[in-house]
Amino acid sequence: MRTNGARTAFALALLLGLGTAAIASDAQASGATPTSTIDLLVVYPRPASEQLAGLILWNRSWGETEMGPFLDANFGRVTQIYQQSGVPVEFRVAHSESIDLSSLGPNWKATLSFALMNSESPTASQVPYLDAIESLRDLHAADIVIYWRQPSDNGPTSNGAGSVGGGEDEAYVHLTYSGINPPVAAHETGHLLGGQHQEGVQGSATFSIDGDTATLREYRSVMTATSTLGLDAFRYLWRFSQAGTSITGSNDCSEFSGALSICEFPSSAPLGDADHDAATTLAAMAPVVAAFRTAAPAVQVPAASPLGVALLALLFALAGLRALAARRARA
Ligand SMILES: [Zn+2]
Repeated sequence: MRTNGARTAFALALLLGLGTAAIASDAQASGATPTSTIDLLVVYPRPASEQLAGLILWNRSWGETEMGPFLDANFGRVTQIYQQSGVPVEFRVAHSESIDLSSLGPNWKATLSFALMNSESPTASQVPYLDAIESLRDLHAADIVIYWRQPSDNGPTSNGAGSVGGGEDEAYVHLTYSGINPPVAAHETGHLLGGQHQEGVQGSATFSIDGDTATLREYRSVMTATSTLGLDAFRYLWRFSQAGTSITGSNDCSEFSGALSICEFPSSAPLGDADHDAATTLAAMAPVVAAFRTAAPAVQVPAASPLGVALLALLFALAGLRALAARRARA
């Protein structure tokens, strides 16, 4: 049965976050930084060489001509976005495969995206798609499934995630063809790890793009999705927002699904504050998602002292709010 796991998963993330905070102070004392490994299953609807050809033509395959090395390089960049934002997580491509679900229907390439987006409450006709994907996922013990689409497949016009901070039965992402771009993949996996649009940063600063004349422009962090400030241009920094951080000098940036550029900031610009701190949310949820397809970590619930009960009630109330927000913010 597919149920909404958002509430449970986020409460678990909060509990783990509290636990991790205690562990982290020990880890810092010993100099160790625990990194969560999130295993990916990447599926695509065409033969590998055909699927990759467009990116090679656009010179955006990281110099690779084979699917495996390309995906490793690409998700290495996604990992870099998280790690440079202080989130100790690694995205590992456990397996990639060309799939053919034409036995399920003539419009399967589009229907699969809708099924993944609707995984919380699939229609009867969508269930076989999820079952097919789950069979493959089980084989490779993947924590997250990514469906990398072909151009013009009549599916959703934008990229999407199956949930915001939901359970393992909603841990799906579909990416448009150009949406395989690292900031887009980081954004959509960021939703699975509880990240929300309003946690992103949107600011203005004078910076240059690939060595042009520095101009007052808009910059954004990866989770930001909102209307523009209307300046000369805007670029996504390949970073998540993080309270108390700023950027200066050379930084990876691009249009959301555009090629990598270098944005040069002559002076410091803020990259987060208490209200714009996706990194903390992602770091709390990363160990939960990494354990979706391995033995779940034991969570020690504190003895039911009045304070403990009050704390749990608070956590679940917060999780309920997050789940509610998740339903509204899904995109
Ligand atoms: Zn989004």
